[in-house]
Amino acid sequence: MNLYSTKNKKHVVSLKEAVLKGLPPDNGLYMPERISQLPKEFIDNLSDYTFAEIAFEVSKNLIGEYIPEADLKTIIDKSINFPAPVVSLNDSMHILELFHGPSLAFKDFGARFMAQLMSYFNKGEQKELVILVATSGDTGGAVAAGFYKTPGVKVVILYPSGKVSMLQEKQLTTLGENIEAVEINGTFDDCQAIVKQSFLDKELNSSIRLSSANSINIARLIPQSFYYFEAYKQLKNKKDVVFCIPSGNFGNLTAGLFAKKMGLPIHHFIAATNANDVVPEYLFSGEYQPRPSVRTISNAMDVGSPSNFARMMDLYGSTWNIIKKDISGYFFYDEETRQGVKEVYDKFNYTIDPHGAVGYLALKEYQKENPNTNGVILETAHPSKFIDDMEDILKTDIHIPERLAVLKSKKKNSVLMKNNYILFKEWLLGNY
Ligand SMILES: *Cc1c(COP(=O)(O)O)cnc(C)c1O
Repeated sequence: MNLYSTKNKKHVVSLKEAVLKGLPPDNGLYMPERISQLPKEFIDNLSDYTFAEIAFEVSKNLIGEYIPEADLKTIIDKSINFPAPVVSLNDSMHILELFHGPSLAFKDFGARFMAQLMSYFNKGEQKELVILVATSGDTGGAVAAGFYKTPGVKVVILYPSGKVSMLQEKQLTTLGENIEAVEINGTFDDCQAIVKQSFLDKELNSSIRLSSANSINIARLIPQSFYYFEAYKQLKNKKDVVFCIPSGNFGNLTAGLFAKKMGLPIHHFIAATNANDVVPEYLFSGEYQPRPSVRTISNAMDVGSPSNFARMMDLYGSTWNIIKKDISGYFFYDEETRQGVKEVYDKFNYTIDPHGAVGYLALKEYQKENPNTNGVILETAHPSKFIDDMEDILKTDIHIPERLAVLKSKKKNSVLMKNNYILFKEWLLGNY
């Protein structure tokens, strides 16, 4: 299997090139040429496999021809090494907890797998690889943890000074070793602009091997398909299974579409968003109108121009009637989201974070019309990551897991910089 660009199917590259480059030069997105069906026997007998074994079989099916089995197994064992349990609210509503990794968000799956794959393909290279990543909070933490102590790879994380939460900042700035945090006096968009300009700078790229850990890298999507199988395995009732995905850039949902293409019997998908509703609007009207994002309490989903929409279109040949049959869209405002958090707590004694709550509301709405379905909500982050809003909504203390709590007392280490590309470039050339 090679990968093509969504902008030009004739532009095909190997997995190595797609992973190390991240983006095709024509600004499209890499897509697998073929997503083959897994054997029915595997799907029917998922309960015989551990999560890591499922991850191995699924990845072998997608990228096995590029990587010898033993190496692929090592990559899986080093990255997919925490659980993804399903917790049932009642007989028809279940929560797939994706926050048991080091940074407490589902992004750990993608970031860790990508880190392993990049360092695998980078082996034997003389020059170190420098990964640039701009973050508004969550991505940086997962990427930092994923690449921590990876030989031959350095990571530079740019984040907007004063605009990420204290614990998020500590996730970026306390690891040390091969991870460096640059604090930009500006916004997230400024950080992203500096990263983009770096990739376009020929002079910079001729002296440093740069790569991107952005969510558009195909290596982040592949592992996100694993947990759809793992969730399905855990369900007692496997009839009419519906996955409800709180979405921003739609990577998680796209990975679910991959799982369905590989033969997992998924009855339907629900795309759940906050007020940034361009995809639900498209599903409803057929009109796709990206626009600037607005700020919400489910801020990891504040995306106005979802990057993976191009991949969704590619999978469905841009045919609205067909995509609509597989995916329904719903969106909710912050006031509803707060109600959702409260309702899940009061009714089911479960603490759901604001992103998951958007998913809960969407599933509830869908099940009014489709009562005999069996819904799984992807819980994308641990509620303690949003402790201020959570405590404000629930009026109770939220438990902070140890791996997050220990960060409080760690010393922050960052390079503070003006929002200026030339300064950043000089700093990079001087240090790498
Ligand atoms: C990134 C993120 C999302 C959005 O995921 P996409 O794959 O971009 O749609 C949702 N919830 C949380 C907590 C996230 O960090």
